[in-house]
Amino acid sequence: MLTNIIEQSKIECFKAWLEQAQNIVIVSHVAPDGDAIGSSLGLFHYLLELGKNVRVIVPNAFPDFLRWMPGSKDIVLYDHSQTDAKELVGAADLICCLDFNELSRIDALGEVVGAATARKFLIDHHLNPGHFCDETISHPEISSTSELVFRLISALGGYDLLTHDAAECIYTGMMTDTGGFTFNSNNREIYLIIGQLIDKGIDKDEIYRRVFNTYSESRLRLMGFVLSRMYVYRPLHAALISLTKQEQSRFNYIRGDSEGFVNIPLSINHVIFSCFLREDTERPIIKVSLRSVGSFPCNQVAAEFFNGGGHLNASGGEFYGTMEEARARFEEALQKFKPLLTAKTK
Ligand code: 5GP
Ligand code: MN
Repeated sequence: MLTNIIEQSKIECFKAWLEQAQNIVIVSHVAPDGDAIGSSLGLFHYLLELGKNVRVIVPNAFPDFLRWMPGSKDIVLYDHSQTDAKELVGAADLICCLDFNELSRIDALGEVVGAATARKFLIDHHLNPGHFCDETISHPEISSTSELVFRLISALGGYDLLTHDAAECIYTGMMTDTGGFTFNSNNREIYLIIGQLIDKGIDKDEIYRRVFNTYSESRLRLMGFVLSRMYVYRPLHAALISLTKQEQSRFNYIRGDSEGFVNIPLSINHVIFSCFLREDTERPIIKVSLRSVGSFPCNQVAAEFFNGGGHLNASGGEFYGTMEEARARFEEALQKFKPLLTAKTK
């Protein structure tokens, strides 16, 4: 049995709002990852079973390795289909916001959602949720929004209505947000849930292969290149990798090719803090990804130095400037956090 972590009043509220809604829109964050797409599509399939008109809208495209997911072809990308997206949001009587804690995390779609008259319900696991929804289910102690969606559906008595497709999507989000159950994954109930998803007929090994082992040859070569130029700050137990636009085109970079790179330096025996700087191809920014092991708060670094945020061990932000300036900013952060970094080892 799963512990009831979601407040009963919120479950009742979600249930009542679902009953009163026919047109439902689900939105998730920019540069959608496995959990953004997995939680959105998991809920999408459940709502389809309830007979709702439901669509998922995300700000921009998601990586190829998520394209196999059932329902992914019906996802509306706001940057390509603004008119359709605005119409859907305008006609919605309920908007479910999944896997983000601030409207700014859905970019320009935030203005449309913010201005919508529909009821809004946030389901998320990031710290410090903003007050942009009428009701909020926020559980930062839960490792993925997909897990939270499973728990919510179960609490609604909806397990029987959960299809194989829904189960695949939920499993994918749980798997990607925990690095294949290698971090944030010590809660035994995760494995009870996986058991229930396997009962729906999912092939978890196959899902792992589809997500993590279907890259291009050039992606692997890019990884080798990036790692060969890694900076290691030995006394600080930190490492930095980077990727410019020019390097991306040299390796025929496609969206998602650098997914997971930021975790690799953490496999060095003394490294507890890793940073990946990547020049964005669409916006004049450098995307910053931070990861840590143990109690080092990389979300504080993201918030204080890179206009970002996130979880204790996985956070991110943005930098406006050159790659050299971004690296200098990171080194400033290392100095500020030096006492914490030098005190820690694995
Ligand atoms: P990633 O490194 O995979 O892009 O992001 C890891 C986590 O950091 C995300 O799940 C999200 O919580 C957080 N994050 C990434 N980028 C940003 C950002 O620009 N702003 C904020 N507030 N959080 C971010
Ligand atoms: Mn997530």
